[in-house]
Amino acid sequence: SAKDRGPSTVAAYDSRLHAEALDRLELRADLQRAIFQNELVLHYQPTVELETGRITGFEALVRWQHPVRGLLSPASFVPMAEETGLVVQLNTWVLFQACRFAAVLQNDWRRPTMSVNISAQQLVRTDFVEQVNRALSESGLSADRLTLEITESVVLQDLEDVVPRLSQLRDRGIRVAIDDFGTGYSSLAYLTELPIDVLKVDKSFIDRVASDAQGASVTEAIISMSHTMNLSTVAEGVEVAEQAAWLRQVRCPIGQGYYWSRPVDENGVHDLLTRPTNELGGSADLVSYRA
Ligand code: C2E
Ligand code: MG
Ligand code: MG
Ligand code: MG
Repeated sequence: SAKDRGPSTVAAYDSRLHAEALDRLELRADLQRAIFQNELVLHYQPTVELETGRITGFEALVRWQHPVRGLLSPASFVPMAEETGLVVQLNTWVLFQACRFAAVLQNDWRRPTMSVNISAQQLVRTDFVEQVNRALSESGLSADRLTLEITESVVLQDLEDVVPRLSQLRDRGIRVAIDDFGTGYSSLAYLTELPIDVLKVDKSFIDRVASDAQGASVTEAIISMSHTMNLSTVAEGVEVAEQAAWLRQVRCPIGQGYYWSRPVDENGVHDLLTRPTNELGGSADLVSYRA
């Protein structure tokens, strides 16, 4: 009966919460170990010049090769790493690893850039600039091949400290990108004050361009604003030919998404770079899209 089900449902719920809490505790201890035991891996997703289909660079995306749970996505452990402060160690590892691999790729004629996601806790540290300098000098990567991706909320959180720090890095030739642009709730006015080079337009805007006229016009306005500010624009999460064609039409220079490639491992990167560009979806489609 319903009377019987009531309490047992609660009990089941309690024990589920308990299991989740244990799970998290275990994961936290695990992550600490993982950072030192080489269980983290980087996958790389290309960015592509929309006009030609040519690869311009890669973004380093961390995964955790967990011995029991399998390959974990960053969504399942980066937030926990943020909460516990472990994200600083984690991202330091990512930065050095990505620079090391990017230095290898400098031999390719395209000299692809490498983008690394930077978290708030990393950026507010006084030794951040020094750390980036060290990653460059130890790897031999030239500064103009490195892009740091930062979300709007992170920059705005601590403008006074962060802006001079970013300016210092840009003076060296490192590029700064605003990641997931448009998902924050801040005004556009501040953008002109920031020392940035690239705007990465969030996937949620790209999702709408081929189906929804109003959504398309908002996205077009963002791309045109980015042009006006002399920023490079990257469209995130491009999945289908119609989106790529629309982006070309509104003169968005660069795209990233499953349409060209999912994030791949180091071997996958070498494969992508040895493939003729017309085998990447980008230049193969000649769809003419009319808004
Ligand atoms: P992000 O920096 O915005 O990275 C893009 C995410 O979108 C990646 O997910 C990528 O696999 C996914 N993506 C790219 N193209 C498409 C597409 O066409 N369709 C769909 N549905 N998704 C696409 P991923 O690798 O799961 O990373 C998620 C987020 O985790 C990243 O978002 C970034 O914020 C964070 N992250 C990844 N690596 C690191 C890291 O090393 N450090 C820190 N702090 N955060 C990281
Ligand atoms: Mg990113
Ligand atoms: Mg992004
Ligand atoms: Mg995103």
